[in-house]
Amino acid sequence: MPIRIALVGVGKIARDQHLPALAANPSYELVAAASPHHQLEGVPYFTSIEALLSATPDVEAVSICTPPQVRYEIARYALEQGRHVMLEKPPGATLNEVSALVDLARERKIALFATWHAREADAVEPARQWLASRRIRSVTVIWKEDVRVWHPGQRWIWTAGGLGVFDPGINALSIVTRVLPGTLVLEDAELEVPANCETPIAATLRMKNEYGTPVRMELDFRQTGPQTWDIDVETDGGRLQLSRGGRFLRVDDELVVDGHDNEYANLYAHFATLVRDRRSDVDLAPFRLVADAFMCGRRVSVAPFVE
Ligand code: NAP
Repeated sequence: MPIRIALVGVGKIARDQHLPALAANPSYELVAAASPHHQLEGVPYFTSIEALLSATPDVEAVSICTPPQVRYEIARYALEQGRHVMLEKPPGATLNEVSALVDLARERKIALFATWHAREADAVEPARQWLASRRIRSVTVIWKEDVRVWHPGQRWIWTAGGLGVFDPGINALSIVTRVLPGTLVLEDAELEVPANCETPIAATLRMKNEYGTPVRMELDFRQTGPQTWDIDVETDGGRLQLSRGGRFLRVDDELVVDGHDNEYANLYAHFATLVRDRRSDVDLAPFRLVADAFMCGRRVSVAPFVE
């Protein structure tokens, strides 16, 4: 029997990725959706999770695609009502609220999945394996995209808890924390915050792991023209490059993996196994690094952002 699933938050990512991934996966039946102002054609819709679960009590799982600031209350309610929960990235607005959800899912023996879609890109696992047998000298991450293209009109990204440029930047961190050994520790961060916003539009970070590997990261939301989502790793056995957010892998300039867009298909396949086994998968490593950057990073005020 397919898992009867509901979508909460019908915005850009729900339409771009979640709907096609669910439609292509016979393990799921999409039975309802909730969003304050948007409906999904052909699916019963409600304006809140409470109304949705009360009207469609046979929903087994809920996938939450809202902005992070409202995710906790929705996830908590769904778990309290005994529903399995999948969270878009970032998993919440604070570390403690996600920890509270982990405890609740464990108590109730239901699945909680904090997704990191970028980790599912085709070249990420081959990169991890290639790096595992080499000594890593340095890592450079350049993650520069045009916020007007990827987050058109999204005010939530500029308000506290919306992460600003760390909304895409956390994708890079999710890859880096997967492919590098050890635990990354923040050494230094500078956050450029527009005078009319609460979150940064650009940031630079320096990190290091216990093996002394330096990791430098440049994030920028003001990129126009070609977009850059690249990770370069210098090792004693050659140079590894992950590009297009982990889709392509080059070793010493030779293309080794030419990937496809399977990220959300992989996420939903994994969630189905978590639901079946009533298990959780929550790795907070990328989220902790972002929290550390917000805690220790120097703020620099820059020109106001105008959409
Ligand atoms: P979005 O287009 O602004 O969509 C978010 C939706 O959440 C809105 O349509 C809004 O619904 C809904 N919402 C807000 N408060 C809600 C509540 N209390 N209950 C139910 N629904 C609520 O944002 P997005 O780009 O889809 O991003 C959402 C999340 O996906 C973010 O965490 C982001 O990091 C992640 N993500 C985005 C992308 C991307 O390319 N944009 C890629 C990967 C991941 P109404 O419009 O009905 O008010």
